[in-house]
This record gives sequence, structure tokens and C-alpha cells, in this order.
Amino acid sequence: MQTGTDHFDVVIVGFGPTGATLALLLSHYNVRTLILDKEADIYPLPRAVHFDDEIMRVFQNIQIAEDLEAHLHINPGMRFVDRNGDLLLDWPRPKQITEQGWNASYRFHQPDLERLLRKKISENSLINVQTECNVMNIEQAADCARITYFDKVKGCEFFVFSEYVVGCDGSNSFAREKLCTNMENFGFQQRWLVVDALLRNSMPELGDHTLQYCDPERPVTYCRNPGLRRRWEIAIGEESYDDDIIDNSRLWQTLSQWITPQDAIIERTAIYKFRSIIANRWQRGRLLIAGDAAHLMPPFMGQGMCAGIRDAANLGWKLAYCIKNGHNGVLLESYEEERIPHVKEYILTAVSLGELICSATPMHDLKKLKNKNSTNGAMQSLTPALGKSKIFKNIEKRKLGSGVLFGQPTLFTGQKMDDVYPYQAVLVSSQFIQTDTCPIISPHNSPAVDQMLRTLKAHSVLIRPDRYMLAIAKNAEETLAISSSDTMQRCFFEV
Ligand SMILES: Cc1cc2nc3c(=O)[nH]c(=O)nc-3n(C[C@H](O)[C@H](O)[C@H](O)COP(=O)(O)OP(=O)(O)OC[C@H]3O[C@@H](n4cnc5c(N)ncnc54)[C@H](O)[C@@H]3O)c2cc1C
Repeated sequence: MQTGTDHFDVVIVGFGPTGATLALLLSHYNVRTLILDKEADIYPLPRAVHFDDEIMRVFQNIQIAEDLEAHLHINPGMRFVDRNGDLLLDWPRPKQITEQGWNASYRFHQPDLERLLRKKISENSLINVQTECNVMNIEQAADCARITYFDKVKGCEFFVFSEYVVGCDGSNSFAREKLCTNMENFGFQQRWLVVDALLRNSMPELGDHTLQYCDPERPVTYCRNPGLRRRWEIAIGEESYDDDIIDNSRLWQTLSQWITPQDAIIERTAIYKFRSIIANRWQRGRLLIAGDAAHLMPPFMGQGMCAGIRDAANLGWKLAYCIKNGHNGVLLESYEEERIPHVKEYILTAVSLGELICSATPMHDLKKLKNKNSTNGAMQSLTPALGKSKIFKNIEKRKLGSGVLFGQPTLFTGQKMDDVYPYQAVLVSSQFIQTDTCPIISPHNSPAVDQMLRTLKAHSVLIRPDRYMLAIAKNAEETLAISSSDTMQRCFFEV
């Protein structure tokens, strides 16, 4: 065994969207990372096709949003229909720009995103990447971690040291095993065939909406992806398919309701077992997990990868603090305290939607869903608050609104807030205050601020780097308290 040449701040196991995003976020704080991935290239099979405005905002913060836009299709929403095409439940995603500064819902091709992430990383001198390196062991000492990996190209084992290790190593995570965590299972487990097709010509009759065919005999999802790419996901129960699914006449027969071989070619297919699980622990000492390593949900809401990107945004600034100022157990524990309840909301809703799509008695499930997430019969997007971590308790009480995502004001200069202050704390205030602890945005900088604060009935809001509100001040006195460098230290640093 040979030693690696370096000691890194953070080793990230896994170069999927979660690991890549985390490395880019950490680089805002000059954190040096090593990403290790066992594969030579990005994952080739069909996976994510949807993300939302909050995730696009994270992509804005790592400066890939502009390039990504060329690869996106704005999604008008999802419709749940019965086998006759009659509408059961509507989930409209209006095409206006939301308060996050982006569209509510985007369709994309996961390899396009992953290529952009990798290009951005290749231009970043703080991030080292080694592919074809299989992580074999992670050991923790009091002040660092030792990571052993097998380099498939060189044909031998190496080890490196780092302050922290984050397992972004997907659904069969080795890092999760090392955490020795229990898994909570929400029960939904089904085999689905996923088919990506490339149309030969545009077929507007297929529609712009995502369609969920709630047919208990053959539940199917249709997605209108960018360009000529279209996705069908088909429940297959225990049916067996030949290795060569593409030439399978049964597949074309299933698709015949929408397309024939004259209309499209099949680009790629995969069979997955959709699961609904979450790890009870995401952190132990210097080892953490994020993304699919920490949670899995069925893809009916298009939120699995989104959850991993949120993990990265929540964790990045906390790790950066620990690297700069020393290990802080309370701050790192806040990662799972905040993220687990948040992800559970998405998993539970995705499971309910899955039950609706597959159920023999859909009206029953529909009623449940409407009660939970709908107004006037239409389903609404989820916007859960973060779980109550101890870092909220530190600011007297967790006030209404803290732990909730804050919008993105546009400044008088025409720039969006995060373009000027990417991934850093910001104080938004209607008062004139002076502090050198973090940038301040007031009605003098942005016309939107007044209204945003009025909606919250607040004088000032302290926003974390991940854009969730940490503290809300209801009057001048509270504003002074949250803007004092003492409080900022306490909130961000001395938790
Ligand atoms: C059919 C389908 C549709 C989906 N649709 C959506 C959607 O529309 N929207 C959405 O948000 N999500 C969706 N998802 C989920 C989404 O694709 C995943 O959540 C996302 O890809 C997970 O990213 P990740 O970076 O956490 O893990 P991964 O992308 O799985 O990356 C893990 C990486 O770790 C590496 N690795 C593993 N073990 C080791 C090791 N020991 N050493 C080194 N490297 C290792 C792997 O090679 C891999 O590159 C869908 C998933 C499926 C299957």
C-alpha cells in the first residue's frame, strides 16, 4: 500500500451530482477537496429528469445556471389521469419566475448537468478528482480521517488523510455502512422499467405536461424532456425482460399508445427497484453522508437528486466553518437534525403519489393527497421548513419563519442577490444598520426587500449561506441584536 501525497480538508466519495455540487460549494470557502469515484465516467443509465427553483438557485450559486439553461425545458406541471385519460389530480407549475428567482420546475437530462458540473470542477484548482478509484476503507482518528482506496489504473491501494469525509456514494453507499446507521423504510418498493426515447420529429400531440397514468393494471409515467427526448417509466411488477429490452416487441407494444418505431428510437433503458428509505444517522465524528447515500425515494415527484443538492447546500458552509475554526459537534449535528425531517416530507409525499398511481382504489388515495397538499383540487408544491436544530435554539427562540427558505431579491443594479453574494450569509433589513460581519441588503439596494419583509412581518432577516432564514427580527431592538457581530458569531460560529 502506498500513501497519497496529500492531506485534504475534505474527501468526497462519489462524483455524482451531490458530491460534485458539495465540492463546488466548499470551494467558495477555499476548502481543498479530493473527490474519489470508482467509475471512469458519469452514470450512463436513465435517471433524473426534473428539478425545481430552489435547486436552480443552488446551481446559480455554483455558477453553472447560465450554461445549464440552454439544456432545460420549463415544465408546466404534472397531471394524474386515469386509464381513460380523465384528470384525477392536477399539479400545475406556473411558468412565471418564482420568488427564488427561477422557474418553478425544469426538465433536464442528468448527463448534461453532470458534464457541466465536471467542466466547472476541472476549472477549479481547489478540487482534485480521481476517477477509477474505489474507496475500500474509512477510519476515523480524533483529529482526522484516513481513506483507503484502490486505484484501478495503477493497480494498487493508496491512502490519504482528510479533516472530514463525506460519502456521496449513492444508494449502495459504503460510507453509510461505516456509519452503522439503521434505515427507516417507508414501504414503497416496486420494479419499474425506465425508457428514454428520442423522437424522430416533434410530436406535440404527446403534450407538454408530465402525465401519470394511474392505471392499476399498468401504471405509467410520461415525461416531456428537453429537445426531442421523451421518458416513459412503466411499472413491471415481477415480469422478466430479456437482456435486450430495446428490441423487445413487448416494450414497443406497451409504448404503442404513444409512439411506434417509426416515431422514435430508444436511446437507453433500465430496470430499477424504486425504494423509500432514509438513514437515521447522517454523521458520526468526521464521517458524513449525503444524497442517495442518505435517502432514497420513488421518482414520482422528481425530488431524489434535489434532496441531495439540498444536503450539499446545508452541509457545505458548516463543514467550511469546522475546517477554519475547529471541529464543532453541535454545528455538524444540525445537518441531520435539519435535513432528515425535511427529506421525510418529500419521501412520504412521493410514496403517497406512488400509491395513487398504482392503487386499485385511486380515489381513496386522491382524497388523502388533496387534503394534504392541495387547494381547490390542485396539488401544491411542498415547501417544508428545516427540522429544529440546536443552531436555531441558540437565537433565543426559533421564531416563525426561521428554517424556511428566503426568496431572492433582485437588486437595483438588475443583478440577482446570489450573483452578488453567492453562498454566504446576508442580512436583509429595512433599517439602516452597519455591520462588517456580513453584507446587508436594504430597500436602498433592492425594491423587492420591503415587500418580502412585510410578508414576514419582519424588520430584518438573517439568511444563511444555504438561503434558509436563521433569525427574524420583528423590531429595531431585535434587529440590533441579530446584526451585532456577537450574535452573528454565536449563530454561525460559536454554536
Ligand atoms: C428512474 C429514476 C428517475 C429519477 N428522476 C429524478 C428526478 O426527476 N429528479 C430528481 O431530483 N431525482 C431523480 N432521481 C434520483 C436521482 O437520479 C438520484 O437521486 C441522484 O442521481 C443521486 O445522486 P448522488 O450524487 O447522491 O449519487 P450517485 O449519482 O449515485 O453518485 C454516486 C457515485 O458514487 C460512486 N461510488 C459508489 N461507491 C463508491 C466507492 N466505494 N468508491 C468510490 N466511488 C463510489 C459511484 O460510482 C457514483 O458515481 C431519479 C432516479 C431514478 C432511478
